[in-house]
Amino acid sequence: MPRLVYLNDQFIHEEKAAISYLDLSFQRGYAVFDFFRLVGNEPLHLEDHLDRFYFSAAELRLPVGKTRDELKQIIKELLWENEIPNTGVRLQLSGGEYSNGAEFISPTLIISQVEFTPPSLSMLEEGIQIISYPHQRQLPQVKSTDYLMSIWLQPLLTQKKADDIVYHTSGLIRECPRSNFFIVSATEKLITPGDQVLKGITRMKVIQLASMSGMVEEREITLEEALNAKEAFITSTTRQIVPVVQIDGKPIGYGKPGRVTKDLMRELRRHCGIESE
Ligand code: PLP
Repeated sequence: MPRLVYLNDQFIHEEKAAISYLDLSFQRGYAVFDFFRLVGNEPLHLEDHLDRFYFSAAELRLPVGKTRDELKQIIKELLWENEIPNTGVRLQLSGGEYSNGAEFISPTLIISQVEFTPPSLSMLEEGIQIISYPHQRQLPQVKSTDYLMSIWLQPLLTQKKADDIVYHTSGLIRECPRSNFFIVSATEKLITPGDQVLKGITRMKVIQLASMSGMVEEREITLEEALNAKEAFITSTTRQIVPVVQIDGKPIGYGKPGRVTKDLMRELRRHCGIESE
């Protein structure tokens, strides 16, 4: 059965969902999106993702053109029509057909259901190796569709045999291309950059969970501090928590996933109702 996609007021078959070549997303890369996952057929943290979607749209002066309730109704109908559990939902909004860039008369809104690849068992059990790279995302709190640097860096990842990248600016850690970054200090404090990053929904949930039992700090982390941390991990909607065991070839802590990270992985899975990937 071909799946349905919602495109500008219509539910249409995926293969017929086309937008104009004049669309600003293509012409100028002017678009925002959000992505949430389904547990069974139930959206996970829908309200938080909608908050961020409306925030990103407002930051780029893009009218969503639908109230929150209308958007929720559209999502509900799409899930009901498609019946594909445990997938993800993408909300995408662009500037619409090319304009002078000052106002956006007819933005393009697309809502689609997509499969996503959860992290492999070995990533979860053994952790990943990452490399650092100097870069700062533009308008970092906006979830824009700009992943130019991340795609451009793929050959470097292959060359270095690394699993991911962490961006830093002048030695201050920011985030990974599609995840937020945390360290666990020697005193078992959880630390994550508080500024110049996308406020990830998973990041927020991890901060909330960890605040109940321990200390969490949102502040700058130098690359040096990260290299000397007891543990490190990354967070995102598709990956949840993945331990980081090496940065730039240097082992973090004992070079294997640490206890604090493993406890949080379990707690987050329980909190989200995701028993296993
Ligand atoms: N940072 C960036 C740049 C991202 O693109 C993402 C997710 O795609 C994240 C962080 C993690 O955010 P979330 O936990 O909401 O998936």
